[in-house]
Amino acid sequence: MKKPLNDVVKDIYDEGRYKQFMDYEKQCRTLSLLQLILEALFTCSMVCSPFFEWVSQFSVYQSLLISIVVFMIWDAALSFIMQYYKTFVIEERFGMNKMTKRKFNHEFLIDLVFSFIMSVTFYFLFTYILENITYWTHAFQLSFYKLMGMILGIGILILCLVFIFVYLSFYVMTKQYTFTSLENTELLDDIHKLLTGCKKKVKSIKVYDESKRSNSKNAFVLKLPFFRMIGIADNFLNENSYNELLGVLAHEAGHLKHKRKWYNHVMYFIILVLILFIVFIFYHFQWIQMSMEYINQSFGFVNNVYYLYFIVIDMLIEPILFLVSVFHNYVSRQEEYEADRNVVQEGYGKDLIALFKKLSRDELVDVNPHPFIEFIEYDHPSITHRILALLN
Ligand SMILES: [Zn+2]
Repeated sequence: MKKPLNDVVKDIYDEGRYKQFMDYEKQCRTLSLLQLILEALFTCSMVCSPFFEWVSQFSVYQSLLISIVVFMIWDAALSFIMQYYKTFVIEERFGMNKMTKRKFNHEFLIDLVFSFIMSVTFYFLFTYILENITYWTHAFQLSFYKLMGMILGIGILILCLVFIFVYLSFYVMTKQYTFTSLENTELLDDIHKLLTGCKKKVKSIKVYDESKRSNSKNAFVLKLPFFRMIGIADNFLNENSYNELLGVLAHEAGHLKHKRKWYNHVMYFIILVLILFIVFIFYHFQWIQMSMEYINQSFGFVNNVYYLYFIVIDMLIEPILFLVSVFHNYVSRQEEYEADRNVVQEGYGKDLIALFKKLSRDELVDVNPHPFIEFIEYDHPSITHRILALLN
């Protein structure tokens, strides 16, 4: 937490709770650093070991499946231990955990199955495309229009798959959380009042059982194609005042009233650049083939090992993804300020500030991170900045 603190957040932590916050931060940081190091060590040792050479004896798709499974087992084991330790040791110690071990295992398993299905689908699709692209394009001797048609076709296919997985992840969420309709009619009336003026109607307002896993408080607007939903953690209903709850919902309504700004259009520009980049790659596909050949010779591969190529591609595009995520975080923070302005307009500014303070204390939130860290990592503004904005 960057010092000195602004006056508006000075009353959040007393000395004892601040000490707990420091302990909690330190333990979480150590754990995530350890996880990063172990992940990197595993990837490095797999690349240096004869694993990929061995796996290259199999057919392209067999070697892909073996690699996915081996990497996933390691990854699952590591994240199981880390998440388990974080939940049942660290969060338990600070009174933030409410999860049972049975529930934890159940949810971990569901997540694992979901990410396995998703990895297999996308890895196999990309491998299939890369294996056959030379044949489909008659060694890239295609007219411009045919090539664009092909890129469009592949693009649409990937987009459809993304939609399917978005809906599937929503389905997985309904298996992990229990969503119940909001019963309180007075509250429902007030929420609908807040929602007047939203372009698209929200019919589904649900409460979910966060109290069975943690003391955390969250609310969200789910915007899927053809489906909109507001979700509220039951912790809000159990522990907060009526007006604080309406403050949160005024914020969510603010998201639904969002007006597009210049930064929303920059995303289209980024997508356009991405498409141009893919077209460029198509025209210079021999570079990709040369790189693959180079890797094959260096490792003494019998067949193509796509999993290793994907690791290399992942490392190469990581810096670009990082920049995109910094921009995405900036956009997200602006939209949070915009949604908070709706709270002030509805007259719940003071209530939301009171809620932020309680919530930060209970959940040991870093209310004043270093501005640089906030800039690159935070998709919500820091509590200090949000309170200052609400007061203005
Ligand atoms: Zn928000």
